[in-house]
Order: sequence, then C-alpha cells, then structure tokens
Amino acid sequence: MSCDFLSLAAPGVRTLQPYQPGKPESELRREYGLSDIVKLASNENPLGPSPKAMTAVREALGDLARYPDGNGFELKAALSAKLGISMSMLTLGNGSNDLLELVARAFLTPEHAAIFSEHAFAVYPIVTQASGATARVAKANPPDHAMPHGHDPAAMLALISDRTRVMFIANPNNPTGTWLKTAELEALLEAVPERVIVVVDEAYHEYVETEADCPSALRWLDRFPNLVVTRTFSKAYGLAGLRIGYAVSHPQVADLLNRVRQPFNVNSLALVAAAAALDDVEHLERSRATNRAGMKQLQNACRQWGLSWLPSAGNFLCVDLGQPGREVFVELLKRGVIARPVDNYGLPRHLRISIGTEAENARWIEAMHDILRG
Ligand SMILES: *Cc1c(COP(=O)(O)O)cnc(C)c1O
Repeated sequence: MSCDFLSLAAPGVRTLQPYQPGKPESELRREYGLSDIVKLASNENPLGPSPKAMTAVREALGDLARYPDGNGFELKAALSAKLGISMSMLTLGNGSNDLLELVARAFLTPEHAAIFSEHAFAVYPIVTQASGATARVAKANPPDHAMPHGHDPAAMLALISDRTRVMFIANPNNPTGTWLKTAELEALLEAVPERVIVVVDEAYHEYVETEADCPSALRWLDRFPNLVVTRTFSKAYGLAGLRIGYAVSHPQVADLLNRVRQPFNVNSLALVAAAAALDDVEHLERSRATNRAGMKQLQNACRQWGLSWLPSAGNFLCVDLGQPGREVFVELLKRGVIARPVDNYGLPRHLRISIGTEAENARWIEAMHDILRG
C-alpha cells in the first residue's frame, strides 16, 4: 500500500478509539458454541418494547418504500404534549448518541474544549475528539464519597476556560449509576456561563425513583437557555434496535442541531414505534417494577458475597468485585452470561450488570456463585 491513509485522516480521527459495545449474543454463540445465553450487558429493557410499539411497527411496514417524515411531526407533537414543551424545542436523533454527536458538530471545533467527568459515558470523549476539540476530564468523586466515582461539580467547573463550549453531564451516569441531586445540578447550571452548552444526558430518566432525588433538567430549560436535555427510547422503552432519541433545548439551539443532522436521520419504523411507546404508560410501569425488583435481587446477592456496589438510579448495577473485572467477565462468558467489564472506563475492579428478568438475574447470580467459590 503506497498510501498511508492514517496520515490523511482528520487529526481527531487519527487516534480515535472506537466505542466498545456490549458483546452481542450471536458472537458468544459463535465463539463458545453456547446456546442458552443471557445478555445483561447493554442496559436494554428485558421485557422488550411495548406491544403497542410492535403493532405500530407492523402497520408501518407497508410504507417502507417511502422516506420517513424528515421533521418527525407526529412524534414531536406527542413529545410536546407529554412534556409540556414547544415543538420548536425538539430535535430527534438516530438514538440519543446521534444527538450527542450533533451537539459536538454544531458547537465544537479544534479551537474549543468540552468538559466531562472521569468514568462518564464513553461517547462524550469520542464525539469531542472526532470534532477535533480538546477533552478536559474532571476528576470524579473519591471512592469514600457518598456518591463514589460520581461527577464532581466543583472539579468540572474548575476546568472551564475561554475555550470551553460544551459540558457533558450524564444524570444518572453510565456505567457508574451515580447521579447529581437536585440542589447540586441546579447549582452547577447556575455556575456555568451561558456561552457553554450544558448537555444533561437523561438516558435512564424513566427508571429514576422519586426518593433518589435525581431530577430531570427539563424543569430548568426556561432559566438556562444553554441547556440541552437528551433522552432515549433505547433503555426503558425497549427500542434500542430501532435507534431513536430526542433532545430538548432552546429553539435556537434546536435549530442549530437540526441544521447539522442528516435530513432523514430517524427511520420511519422508529418514529411510529416511539410515538406508540410513549402512549403505553402501563408497559413503562411494568418495566420500572421489573427493574425495582431486579435491583433488590442483585443487591441481595452481592450483600451475601460481601461485595459492594455503586449507588445506581438506572437499570444496572456497577459491582466492586475486589478483583479484575475483565477476568470475571470472561468466566461469566464461559457460563453463558454476558456482563460488561468497565476497565476501559477506569474501573478495573468493577463489573457492570444490567438488570434483567428475575430468571436472567438468577443466571448471573448462579454463575457468580460458581466463580466466587472457584
Ligand atoms: C445508552 C446510553 C445512551 C444512548 O443510547 P442511544 O441508544 O444512542 O439512545 C446515552 N447516554 C447514556 C449515558 C447511555 O447509557
């Protein structure tokens, strides 16, 4: 090869490390010849999507030859009614991942910097670096903090400079599960200058229990025009495979995000499924109840093994194994259970486990029991 393509790539892309997804079930089947596999690695809804969403998808199959509504009018109308916000504040995305990228594309250049926390969602460094901007990573809370490894607002604020254009906050955060409480997040938003776009990523918002005091930042949109709240249908709504999410922001910010997105970034099946899923309050409640029960089930097992875990307001638990998480991950694979190592997040002793059905959780518990007895 006479051409070194690496040297031709944009500077940010040259050293970019791709996102590491949870191991797909089909891959484990191929590699280990296993058939009875439980995947608890990507924080998916173990109950699947709402039956109403399934019906909507089936009905929309006849229109696949047509382009989707590039403005997503019906879904935006449904979201606007549900959230009590104007449609002009909405941007739809091919998963909320798409929206994080749109923010980077609209606001970051090689002259700028983005701030996020240590152990924060892996997509923030990726979209920052791909845009050529500088990533400023704030130290997370120490392990003995009430919210161990969680975002430290003071550390994040201390990194703000003239170059800062974006701050990413995951609330609750993945993979830790930790969150900023109402007063903390409000104080942080108050302290950030208006010229810095603050993205509050609420991918797990639907799972948050009232007593956690993990607020939705939607309530502050009127006060902070630099705020962008992102949500997804991939987690509690069980539509990860269809790829759909949304952002709520000041209309002027929404206009900018809409300028840089692909004209048809959300497909037609995703649009109808999401609108139908929004309507199915019962399915969402069932999903939340399953999560609540599963959370207890996993925590009880950890307690019996003498293992600690990070506080979690999401549909997953980040467990401190006291030994290399990746080794336990491999041992689990041999037993047909896919969990998520988080060494790439700077948490080499932890393992993240998504909350499944009671039977799926039991499979993890049984496999762990076997490994720990080792
Ligand atoms: C899963 C996740 C997302 C987005 O997922 P999409 O499928 O792209 O909507 C965003 N943020 C966090 C913190 C997540 O864990």
